[in-house]
Amino acid sequence: DSHLSRTAQLPAPIGVFGGTFNPIHYGHLRSALELVERLDLDHLRLRPCSEPPHRDTPSCPAEHRAAMVELAVAGEATLVCDQRELQRPGPSYTVSSLEEIRGETGADRGLCLVMGGDALTGITGWHRWRELLDLAHIVVIARPGWDLPREGEVANWLHDHRLASRDDLRREAHGGILLESLRPLAISATEIRDLLAAGRSARYLVPEPVLDYIHAHTLYC
Ligand code: ATP
Repeated sequence: DSHLSRTAQLPAPIGVFGGTFNPIHYGHLRSALELVERLDLDHLRLRPCSEPPHRDTPSCPAEHRAAMVELAVAGEATLVCDQRELQRPGPSYTVSSLEEIRGETGADRGLCLVMGGDALTGITGWHRWRELLDLAHIVVIARPGWDLPREGEVANWLHDHRLASRDDLRREAHGGILLESLRPLAISATEIRDLLAAGRSARYLVPEPVLDYIHAHTLYC
């Protein structure tokens, strides 16, 4: 099959993992690394959003959140902090970031937009959400306590675009949805902020340099 043999030769895809990262923690980092290895990604970009469209803008400025992502990935060549949303004024729409990244990579590079299952559930509220698959694949991380939507718009969309195996990510540069179950780590940024606000320790939930940064800048207390 000439189509398959041509498309199976796409170069290793790039992962794009957006979030508020307020702060980044081992749940994000371990998931990111496991995806790089499982999906054989060229690298994965952690993309802090400056003004999340669907939640209040975090009181911790984007510059601090991005600085913590930079500290967390230092020394790990496959993980990169992508600061493009800090440079762009207005709401941080994922579709706009993907358009920019697609413009830089060209049409033949696989892009994998990574999100937790909780984020998938709300995707119909995202700006131009149906266009996301014109730009990238979507990789959904199954998280504890989350279940696949079984009916409604998201369930139908999943049904239409779901990939049978991770090898399918290499056949096209965009357009498929893959579900991946990774090591579940029950860590959330909300819990870390609550611990710190209560004067408790967040050690071993976030990398030590991130914790040092939090203390040096008296964040979350
Ligand atoms: P908050 O508690 O402030 O909502 P969070 O810890 O969920 O934050 P976000 O920055 O909002 O982190 O999440 C970015 C992305 O990371 C989302 O798609 C979310 O589903 C995913 N994510 C968050 N925590 C984990 C975790 N422990 N394991 C896997 N994915 C996670």
